[in-house]
Amino acid sequence: MKVYYEQDADLALIQSKKVAVVGYGSQGHAHVLNMRDSGVKQVKVALQEGSASRKKAEAEGLEVVTPAEAAQWADVLMILVPDEKQAVLYANEIEPHLRAGQHIMFGHGFNVHYNLIRPRADVDVSLSAPKGPGHTLRAQYQMGFGLPGLIAIHQDATGTAQAVALSYSKAIGNTRAGVIETSFREETETDLFGEQAVLCGGIVELIKAGYETLVEAGYAPEMAYFECLHETKLIVDLIYEGGIANMNYSISNTAEYGEYVSGPRVVNSDAKANMKKVLEDIQNGTFARNWVLENQAGAPGFNAMRQRMNSHPIEEVGEKLRGMMHWAQNDRLVDKSRN
Ligand code: NAP
Ligand code: MG
Repeated sequence: MKVYYEQDADLALIQSKKVAVVGYGSQGHAHVLNMRDSGVKQVKVALQEGSASRKKAEAEGLEVVTPAEAAQWADVLMILVPDEKQAVLYANEIEPHLRAGQHIMFGHGFNVHYNLIRPRADVDVSLSAPKGPGHTLRAQYQMGFGLPGLIAIHQDATGTAQAVALSYSKAIGNTRAGVIETSFREETETDLFGEQAVLCGGIVELIKAGYETLVEAGYAPEMAYFECLHETKLIVDLIYEGGIANMNYSISNTAEYGEYVSGPRVVNSDAKANMKKVLEDIQNGTFARNWVLENQAGAPGFNAMRQRMNSHPIEEVGEKLRGMMHWAQNDRLVDKSRN
């Protein structure tokens, strides 16, 4: 597998382009600010009239235009609005203004892979996807590091699609850590699987089930919170730093023995069989269809599930406990008034 680093990408390429980023959310703010700090001078943010994000972008001294204006102005147009809003935005406000030779970019392959967006043949279409949340992308860049990233080329009308995508990835800091070339299909399916089975779905359910088990057995909610949620980060930091053996070196032998005998009883062959079904639903389009239909219906299921999650007792006890740990609240990754 080819991995691209700093010396493989030419920053001057993206610096010579007019770059517009549609959306100033988690990914959008990080891409735009990192690019600006990398010397990309002609960069604009595109938002709807009356957008709540507008004042955040303007507070950074950025020029804000509409998506239609951005589509007319830009050489490179990166679409970083929520996946479920991209198809309508593209059809109504971007496609009518496109011209041959422009370069349309995405941060996730969802809409192109599932054919919800079908770009005309005479534009370049690529993907530059940092492997991590937008707020972390920005924080790592500011510390002089970067997140690893992916690129993929869906269409190369000009013959320069790959060089421009790599240059863009360099400007947002990804080549500092390494950029892997993949396909829209592989990025989309592995990304959806990772967040559903392991990173978001898996971890959240594991934390909740552990918390509930302790509380239902009569232990203090505060104890259950620290044990099952707070300490997750401490363990993951050790794994992130040096792999599973690095974590096992640091924990006690008792904890390590418990890991071997009890871990597979909790995440067992049933769990893995279910993961395969989750992957199948991603591969055959069932998940994408349900998510599109959910949004067309006004997202009642999504909103109900979000509300139920936000009112789980672990969130209440967590808010109280985190309020007591002031040191952990400095330099927050997420400041909703700013990014
Ligand atoms: P997000 O934070 O939810 O994006 C919100 C931004 O999009 C806001 O600035 C919002 O403006 C704007 N927006 C919403 N609808 C719009 C429209 N119709 N026209 C123009 N602007 C609109 O999105 P995100 O999580 O960064 O995701 C963006 C893309 O990056 C997605 O493809 C996602 O899969 C991908 N990605 C995200 C992450 C991540 O860390 N979140 C990681 C990897 C890849 P308002 O203030 O007006 O609502
Ligand atoms: Mg992801």
